[in-house]
Amino acid sequence: MNGEFSGEKMVYLVDRMDCPSCARSLEKGIGQMKDILDVKVNYSTAKMQVTAANEAALLPVENQVEKLGFKAQAVQGNTRTYHVTGMDCGSCAKSIENHLGLQPAVQKVSVSFASGKMKVEHTNSPGEIIKETAKIGFKAELEEAGENPVSGRKDHLWLILSGLLIAAGFAGTYFDIPAAFSILFYAGAMVISGLKPVKAAFYSIKSRSLDMNVLMSAAAIGAALIGEWLEGATVVWLFALGNVLQNKSIEQTRKSIRGLMDLAPPEAWVKIGTEFVKKAAAEAVPGTIILVKPGDKIPLDGEVVKGTSSINQAPITGESIPIDKAAGDSVFAGTINGHGTLEIKVTKHSEDTALAKIIHLVEEAQEQKAPTEAFIDKFAAIYTPIVFVLALLIMVLPPLLSLGTWGEWFYKGLELLVIACPCALVISTPVAIVSAIGNAARNGILIKGGTFLEKAGALTAIAFDKTGTLTEGRPAVTHVKAEEGTQDELLAIAYALEHDSTHPIAKSITEFARQRGAVRFTAENHRNIAGRGVQGEIDGMVYFAGNRALFEGKKVSIEAPDEEGETMIWIGTEEKILGSIAVSDTIRDSAAAAIRALAGKGIRETIMLTGDNEGTAKKIASEAHVTRYFAELLPEDKVTAVQKLQQEGHLTAMVGDGINDAPALAAADIGIAMGGAGTDTAMETADIVLMADNLDKLPHTISLSKKALRIIKQNIWFSILIKAAALALIFPGYLTLWMAVLSDTGAALIVILNALRLLKVKD
Ligand code: ADP
Ligand code: MG
Repeated sequence: MNGEFSGEKMVYLVDRMDCPSCARSLEKGIGQMKDILDVKVNYSTAKMQVTAANEAALLPVENQVEKLGFKAQAVQGNTRTYHVTGMDCGSCAKSIENHLGLQPAVQKVSVSFASGKMKVEHTNSPGEIIKETAKIGFKAELEEAGENPVSGRKDHLWLILSGLLIAAGFAGTYFDIPAAFSILFYAGAMVISGLKPVKAAFYSIKSRSLDMNVLMSAAAIGAALIGEWLEGATVVWLFALGNVLQNKSIEQTRKSIRGLMDLAPPEAWVKIGTEFVKKAAAEAVPGTIILVKPGDKIPLDGEVVKGTSSINQAPITGESIPIDKAAGDSVFAGTINGHGTLEIKVTKHSEDTALAKIIHLVEEAQEQKAPTEAFIDKFAAIYTPIVFVLALLIMVLPPLLSLGTWGEWFYKGLELLVIACPCALVISTPVAIVSAIGNAARNGILIKGGTFLEKAGALTAIAFDKTGTLTEGRPAVTHVKAEEGTQDELLAIAYALEHDSTHPIAKSITEFARQRGAVRFTAENHRNIAGRGVQGEIDGMVYFAGNRALFEGKKVSIEAPDEEGETMIWIGTEEKILGSIAVSDTIRDSAAAAIRALAGKGIRETIMLTGDNEGTAKKIASEAHVTRYFAELLPEDKVTAVQKLQQEGHLTAMVGDGINDAPALAAADIGIAMGGAGTDTAMETADIVLMADNLDKLPHTISLSKKALRIIKQNIWFSILIKAAALALIFPGYLTLWMAVLSDTGAALIVILNALRLLKVKD
């Protein structure tokens, strides 16, 4: 996904470098080594940065430096991403973090259980990291290695083999075969399935974490000690089976996100002279012309320069209907070209495309812990040790008080050990969140973290900006009325003032003036006055264009009423009004439908916020079917309006274009921006981003979030109840060890499968 190859970088601190020319000779000496692409030595900081074509080329660097008479020590590690296989529970991620964190060469490590990825900043080689990870029972692979790891094959075989051994041992007890043979079979099964968890347990204990590997291993070994070989073997086997199944199901969510990454083709037809040559998309810098043939995926973000076609933007925006594109229109990497051939001018580097940003943000989102998840992790961190200690006490105390036999209580203690695993509980939330975020991403909805997903599911009010959100944001000029001078003069002044403004109204007026062939004066000291209008100086005279509020406090008063349902732009100076331009914006086709759909999804209030006049606000509000509106608001008033809704007890979202509504977006419990594919600001400022430039996916966002909340709750309750039931059954002696294991791994599997339903939610 990371388009441009940047080489392997390593920074060294160089000792004994006592003259500036030493830096030069060091640069030369190292630069001549094999596969070294670049060397920068900074004399004043004594740092040397080496870029190599591959990892191996860096290995001899320190030696070579020594030969040149200096001493180098790698200081800054590379941050690399690895795929990790074999993590079957949230606590595995913790164990890896703990273990790698102990390595001196590792500066930083974070493991995402949900995406199966691990980010490590380290100064030693990736091979070293992979080896350390393998020690605790997980398989790590460098992400750049390309192919995602295919795991599990061998696991399956071992699982079947140990299953057969248990069956054979069990069958043996029905025939006249010495018990020792059965025990041998059980022991064999335990070794086969148990080696991995025991190894992992060893390193967990070393890094002082009490994870499920420790608990399960202790339980199985304990069972063997009291001669319950069959129990011990089944514990190990069920545990292994559960892990394989859990891993398999979680792989589905992980795949759903990796699917996004394969959207943009790695190669492009690049124009060189008059020909088109196939090249790596990463090499096509902005400005390059590329050719996209019918039916092909677009490799890079760009602007159509030649040809027409309809483009299926669903992969990015979730819109199912293809969109017609012609010269001047923007296209996005990862979308699918229809019937026409297009020539496209590349506008973004391959690592900056909207798609690349989406992938990056989705990955970040998945690494963030939702409040529920953080709470459960804390809970687990207390729960496990408590139950563990309880288990030890139960093994010892009752028999000491002669309340039963040692064997009986030891067995109960082992059961408690297994119950101390909060696996299902720990997994209940993250898998649901990752699945929901994955579903959203495939629908053109970017949810920037579990926190926002949880909040979105509980929203009761949504406020909308009017211009550009509920309306098209391309207002048409309906009339120009001069009260002083001619219409042409008025238009020329407006043209000059609005030319440099990015407001939708400004764009319409500029466009209108251009089409009319109006002259454009030059305006100096141009200023936007948010929510009111613009001002600028023409020939030493200050002119204003904007709404009534803009002229408040000036010597003029606007006598004429606003046109019914139109937005009036008054143009004048400090002293007098020169005239007005009326513009009228139309509501978006699907806005009313989207708002109506929200009402059915628990959103009690939909509110329109606008800086526009009362008349226009009223008209658009009734067309959009919002429940309330506030008009004539300044940007800061929009913040107050959002706060008012919050004070009324609503969990409130604000939907806007993310450009001039940033304060209100930030004030709301959730800021939702739309048109994310087109504008970077929208993508960066909001908590949830609708990639398409419309509200169509807003209802889906809400229902998906609600469903996610519901599933998380179900999962949590289910895991707690199962644990409680298992606990309750221990004391009357109804519970067996294998049932305890089943209640843990089985519950975890059920919780995962329940969460996976989120991948398939449709409206
Ligand atoms: P909305 O809340 O509808 O998005 P804004 O807060 O952006 O509207 O602007 C509110 C009002 O301020 C507009 O309806 C318009 O009357 C006036 N205004 C803002 N910017 C401009 C501009 N560049 N030119 C003229 N009028 C403007
Ligand atoms: Mg606006």
